[in-house]
Amino acid sequence: MRATILERQGEPLTATTLPDPEPGPGQLLLDIKACGVCRTDLHLRDHEIDATKLPVVLGHQIVATTEDGRRVGVPWLGWTDGTCHYCQTHRENLCVSAKFTGRDIDGGFAELTVADERYCLPLPDTLSDEDAAPLLCGGLIGYRALRFTGEATRLGLYGFGSAAHMICQVAVYQGREVYAFTRARDERTQTFAKTLGARWAGGSDELPPDQLDAAIIFASAGELVPQALRALAPGGAVVCAGIHMTDIPSFPYDILWGERSIRSVANLTRRDGEEFLALAPKVPVRTTVTTYPLENAEQALADLRAGRFEGSAVIVP
Ligand SMILES: [Zn+2]
Ligand SMILES: [Zn+2]
Repeated sequence: MRATILERQGEPLTATTLPDPEPGPGQLLLDIKACGVCRTDLHLRDHEIDATKLPVVLGHQIVATTEDGRRVGVPWLGWTDGTCHYCQTHRENLCVSAKFTGRDIDGGFAELTVADERYCLPLPDTLSDEDAAPLLCGGLIGYRALRFTGEATRLGLYGFGSAAHMICQVAVYQGREVYAFTRARDERTQTFAKTLGARWAGGSDELPPDQLDAAIIFASAGELVPQALRALAPGGAVVCAGIHMTDIPSFPYDILWGERSIRSVANLTRRDGEEFLALAPKVPVRTTVTTYPLENAEQALADLRAGRFEGSAVIVP
């Protein structure tokens, strides 16, 4: 099969051919139709987080068909032990032996893959393969982060990329007011956010016109944490949704005082996936997608790093 692999962290992906994968017990052989590009793929490529196997096929937002013709989605959570303390308390996202797609298990920047059937998710029929792929990480981990904001009405989204462009639509559907924060002077993305229902859009160095009840940080810049705290009303929460963030600068206690809180979101549970994929067609979530052929996966990562597209990038083998 054709695949684009990460051989060494910090170096470009390589287009190559690999032996076709063979499914083990409980695994499905999958014919990949589309695979979304996530900032986590870029963190692995750039060595901001450690790889656990090399070479590895990146990509954990896989839309594929099974040998018997069903369409399934393969997300980041690829396997759990089912027996640890976290698995036994409905927190399989924190499983001590979890295996993640596109890091511990070869992922979707390829023509074929194998996946444990128990972790494959049903996909709504209403979306094409390309349009459905971004739901599988940005969408459903974004949705987990949104749940952690509770009943927040005024919601800030810091970093308006793949996840935020979907979660903005869900939040507006739920009756919340969205405040979109982009890189300073990125008027193109601010306009994009407003077309998706954001009430206000500005630079992440600005304070919004109203105090926020909660903020989700999708960008990986640690300095956004104190900036978001400064925008919060008392009792508000900052939720950090990414797997990697640069160091958070120190900040005065008084911007946390008033029962403000900071927490992170790690991974997903299968239940998050099922809930979000059932909700998405009701909103309905519409994705803005730029597609790349498999051999151009390195270009997709470069464009993500530079912020050259709105919404999500998707690899089509
Ligand atoms: Zn991801
Ligand atoms: Zn476990």
